[in-house]
Amino acid sequence: MKPDLFEAPDYYNLDDLLTEEHKLIRDAARAWVKRDVSPIIEQAAQDAKFPKSIIPGLAEIGAFGPYIPEQYGGAGLDQISYGLIMQEIERGDSGVRSTASVQSSLVMYPIWKYGSEEQRNKFLPKLASGEFMGSFGLTEPDHGSNPSGMVTSFKDMGDHYLLNGAKLWISNSPFCDVAVVWAKNEEGRIHGLIVERGMEGFSTPETHNKWSLRASATGELIFQDVKVPKENLLPNKSGLGAPLGCLDSARYGIAWGAIGAAMDCYDTALRYAKERIQFGKPIAAFQLQQKKLAEMITEITKAQLLAFRLGQLKNEDRATSAQISMAKRNNVEMAIKIAREARQMLGGMGITGEYSIMRHMMNLESVITYEGTHDIHLLITGLDITGENAFK
Ligand SMILES: Cc1cc2nc3c(=O)[nH]c(=O)nc-3n(C[C@H](O)[C@H](O)[C@H](O)COP(=O)(O)OP(=O)(O)OC[C@H]3O[C@@H](n4cnc5c(N)ncnc54)[C@H](O)[C@@H]3O)c2cc1C
Repeated sequence: MKPDLFEAPDYYNLDDLLTEEHKLIRDAARAWVKRDVSPIIEQAAQDAKFPKSIIPGLAEIGAFGPYIPEQYGGAGLDQISYGLIMQEIERGDSGVRSTASVQSSLVMYPIWKYGSEEQRNKFLPKLASGEFMGSFGLTEPDHGSNPSGMVTSFKDMGDHYLLNGAKLWISNSPFCDVAVVWAKNEEGRIHGLIVERGMEGFSTPETHNKWSLRASATGELIFQDVKVPKENLLPNKSGLGAPLGCLDSARYGIAWGAIGAAMDCYDTALRYAKERIQFGKPIAAFQLQQKKLAEMITEITKAQLLAFRLGQLKNEDRATSAQISMAKRNNVEMAIKIAREARQMLGGMGITGEYSIMRHMMNLESVITYEGTHDIHLLITGLDITGENAFK
């Protein structure tokens, strides 16, 4: 792979809106990605292996629980810092950002928000340091966009719960130490349970042959009469709103992360276009290529503004789920379109692992599907503005 010469575009001087702390955090994450992710990520993706060696680095830049209070081992940062960290990590690779998103927003967030004080103290510091890695089990083989139909369930056996069922498409599952699993009780109410590796009847087979997010491990969570201690049930929230609250936090991070992938594709295409000579001049001098680049920087700038404003609303605890859906949907589509255009600008070189673009492009096919598909986020906006539910 080519050396990482990334220079972040900031067409509207958005840095002026950031605090010194934001910039320090962003720059530390950016430097870490250049130093520790870029040199190894292409090979990890080619080998379809999550590079576990980067876990301590992710913890060090605050990627595990950026907004979780320091008393639980988190970084205690605001939502814009969280977004900036996700942007920088996904600039390197969406699979690495997925690992961080799951750990922070889908595992640490529910334990922090819905867990007991004992659960917070037991799990959060280890998750923040990367000593424990987590996964989040909501999707099932027959229930993806409609998680309320889930069939994974648990029974109260007096001194423990008995958990049965299966989850599919679970990021980090093959190596997770703990899984936050959503399952129905005997009354059909959804609850979160913390399932720990080593519990009898719990297995996590890996899903192979992916063409996307190859540097992220994906798998199943299978529960066959797993005895879950009663103290592992998340006590403070139940119902579908509980997992959806986690998804709001993760989707917000994706809205920022997608900008990182788009910035990397744009920056790579711009540099290539200035250097690649055809018909006696750089391809950057041809109007068709300028149109592509001009539209890319325009769309990136709009996405940056959307994410920044959403971050302000999140900091004030005023961001609605529908606003988060709009940003996730818009920014991922923006990134995937830029990746496809940028790949074409590199001609044949664009399909090789010498450049990051094709990897981003394939990764974004998962990002546009997970955490609510592109269609589902559109329906959420539709419901929000019309009051009419078009899901069913
Ligand atoms: C790499 C990867 C990692 C993932 N990681 C996790 C994870 O860590 N944890 C987890 O729980 N899940 C995870 N997922 C699952 C992901 O969230 C689901 O794939 C997603 O929610 C879609 O579900 P599905 O694949 O079953 O598609 P389906 O729900 O079957 O959808 C198929 C198509 O039908 C459309 N559709 C569905 N319902 C409607 C409707 N009402 N109206 C119009 N169109 C509709 C969808 O938009 C889609 O285009 C991951 C997925 C991938 C690919």
